[in-house]
Amino acid sequence: MLRIGIGYDSHRFEAGRPLVLGGQRIPSDAGLAGHSDADVVTHALIDALLGAAGAGNIGRLFPDKDPRWKNADSLHLLRATRDHLRDRDVHPQQADITIIAERPKLADYLDTMGSILAAHLDLEPGRISVKAKTNEGMGFIGRGEGIAALAVATVEAR
Ligand code: MG
Repeated sequence: MLRIGIGYDSHRFEAGRPLVLGGQRIPSDAGLAGHSDADVVTHALIDALLGAAGAGNIGRLFPDKDPRWKNADSLHLLRATRDHLRDRDVHPQQADITIIAERPKLADYLDTMGSILAAHLDLEPGRISVKAKTNEGMGFIGRGEGIAALAVATVEAR
């Protein structure tokens, strides 16, 4: 059976932190605030995968009160999600991700993000598509307060 899940995440900018999106360090004057590395792209993907599996969400699997996940590499959380799904005989197939950010410009990094995320799910590079857009200056994203990401994922439940 094929199942589909949706994920959303947002984090606010915080000066002095590295910006990590889709497992990739991106040159920026500010990173994102968060308990882990605040990789909003990977978090949205994890929520889409868990949603597709009917397995809750990222906060349930990796509580932010748990010191194990402080400054955690979100790719590590992605692999743990993959293993958690595998234990339920659920297998990620593909995902489509949209990043909404007024800055920095992300076009040069999108293909690599997709390849990194796919590799951590044991998928071929083309299975994860990553797109980016601005919010046309509107709202919290338009004011440059943070970055959001949306993801849709398909899994095969055996
Ligand atoms: Mg998050």
